[in-house]
Amino acid sequence: MKIKTYQAPLLLKRKETHDTMTFRFGINMDFRPGQFVMLNAGGRSEAFSVCSPPTDNGYIEISMKMTGSAYKKALDDAKTGDKFEIKGPYGHFLLDGSKGAIMIAGGIGITPFMSMISYATAKKLPTKITLLYSNKTPEDIAFRKEFDELQKQNKNLGVIHTITRPEGHEWSGRTGRVDEEMIKSVPYWKGALFYVCGPGEMVDSMTALLQGMGITKERIKAERFGGY
Ligand SMILES: Cc1cc2nc3c(=O)[nH]c(=O)nc-3n(C[C@H](O)[C@H](O)[C@H](O)COP(=O)(O)OP(=O)(O)OC[C@H]3O[C@@H](n4cnc5c(N)ncnc54)[C@H](O)[C@@H]3O)c2cc1C
Repeated sequence: MKIKTYQAPLLLKRKETHDTMTFRFGINMDFRPGQFVMLNAGGRSEAFSVCSPPTDNGYIEISMKMTGSAYKKALDDAKTGDKFEIKGPYGHFLLDGSKGAIMIAGGIGITPFMSMISYATAKKLPTKITLLYSNKTPEDIAFRKEFDELQKQNKNLGVIHTITRPEGHEWSGRTGRVDEEMIKSVPYWKGALFYVCGPGEMVDSMTALLQGMGITKERIKAERFGGY
């Protein structure tokens, strides 16, 4: 796919969680689920996975953790219609539908998986997908309702949430980091392809865990989100 530069109007902003926002930009870009763009704001360009699927026409959505940085503030302050330079698509973190997928997301690392899973659902792909989605607290879970809805639409999709800091929160689901037991609870794990995305440290520890389980490098795809 050809990398192009777009001047894209901001179409809408949406709050997802207490610290996550989605921005929709009006562009027609050819991309594959899992790819990212470079978005220029406040004089700086940063990488963001496209969160929406390519089956949504006329726009892309980007979801990001609002950290209070000058860059994020420039986006937070933007008004509908303001134009932003977007360059892309980039990246090789792509869904390979030939084998069952186990996707491991840490926090905001959910974004490429949102695009892949929405796409697989819209296209009725037969690929089995299990998403293991780890967050610190239940309030940090982005797209919780959307994933409930996607599971209803896609019988090949399973979503397992786990919370690493449940103390003081209402939560009756799984707790702790994604571990060997959680991975082995996926019936097809032995033949699966693994996709890991999140902050660098999380990606490194998950990759080490998978390799320790005898899963070869060829079966692990990883996308590291710098800056967190
Ligand atoms: C392929 C890719 C896809 C991404 N997709 C998303 C996404 O979908 N959603 C999302 O929220 N974020 C995503 N990120 C992270 C995003 O690009 C920014 O790095 C992040 O949002 C932090 O920016 P900031 O302005 O909040 O932080 P700041 O702290 O202001 O970061 C400023 C710059 O310094 C770098 N930086 C800061 N700390 C470190 C460090 N410890 N080590 C190395 N570099 C550092 C950052 O990468 C950034 O370039 C992605 C990153 C990559 C590489």
